[in-house]
Amino acid sequence: MTIRRMTPARHRWRLWLAVSLLVLPLTVFVVLLHWQPSLDRWEPFRILEAPPAPLQVTWLGTATVLVTDGENAIMTDGFFSRQSLLSVASGPVEPDLERIGEGLETAGVQQLDAVVVLHSHYDHAMDAPEVARRTGALLVGSESTANVGRGWRLPESSIHVPDVGEVLRFGHFELELVPSAHVPMLPMVARLTGHGKTIDEPLVPPASISAWKEGQSYALMLRHPQGNLLIQGSAGFVGGELQGQSADIALLSTGSLGRQSDDYQRRYFEEMVLTTGAHTVIPMHWDDFFTVLDHDTHPLGPLLDNFHGAMEGLKRHSREHDRAFHMLRPLDRFSVEEGRLQETPP
Ligand SMILES: [Zn+2]
Repeated sequence: MTIRRMTPARHRWRLWLAVSLLVLPLTVFVVLLHWQPSLDRWEPFRILEAPPAPLQVTWLGTATVLVTDGENAIMTDGFFSRQSLLSVASGPVEPDLERIGEGLETAGVQQLDAVVVLHSHYDHAMDAPEVARRTGALLVGSESTANVGRGWRLPESSIHVPDVGEVLRFGHFELELVPSAHVPMLPMVARLTGHGKTIDEPLVPPASISAWKEGQSYALMLRHPQGNLLIQGSAGFVGGELQGQSADIALLSTGSLGRQSDDYQRRYFEEMVLTTGAHTVIPMHWDDFFTVLDHDTHPLGPLLDNFHGAMEGLKRHSREHDRAFHMLRPLDRFSVEEGRLQETPP
């Protein structure tokens, strides 16, 4: 009798153990996946409300930046779809026309001169042809980006692949795309996202995100009489790429930067900031782009990035080299006048 009573109890114990071994890691995974790093500690670095000034810059999440002087307007990437991680992982994606419309409306954009795609991963290039179509902009980027445009049936007259060193002019703006590099990624992610590969045929969505291969990565030098901006689409670099270039403000993508070595982070800072002489450093592309865009969009969580690590590194290097370090929240805007960033005093 005693043995019969103990056997089910022992089985129950084993069952609990097995369930716990399965459930516990899964719970930890789900919690980490949804963990939202707090922005509170970076709030003191946030740029205060911008007073009216000739050059206005708005960060629209990821590496999507709007720069306008009131007469002409340039946008990088123009990515607004921001599908959930589950949608992206589980199936084909395509531009979300409603979100693109909302994003342009929020940014107050009706017309653009150029949409400059900094590389051709889906979170940079996917929506750009539709943004160009709606705003009358020229789609500018690599041959891979051109194939994203062709897949969306943009006419060839609306697509431009600049030569190295070519300068594009729109009103008072001068644009130069400097060949650069993508931030290193985990081998599995690199394989999935076509790291170092090109899109060689017109890309017709819907498609798996792996179809939007990297293509050429660029740093954009955006020059204007009121100030020069460097807009870097990914936290990568080619040694000496920006030699001879001059910037006042460096808008630097930081996704995956916090996962690189201290030495890599120091070199990224040197190549982007010290080489160009930028006096102000502003990180971007740290937001969780699997969620909708608003002022409270939080950074990517610890499973996907090391947000605080990247910010601490940039802040430290900025302090060491006497550069200003500023934070933006998505949809924040700042103004530039005579190369200086303008803020409304508190
Ligand atoms: Zn990328």
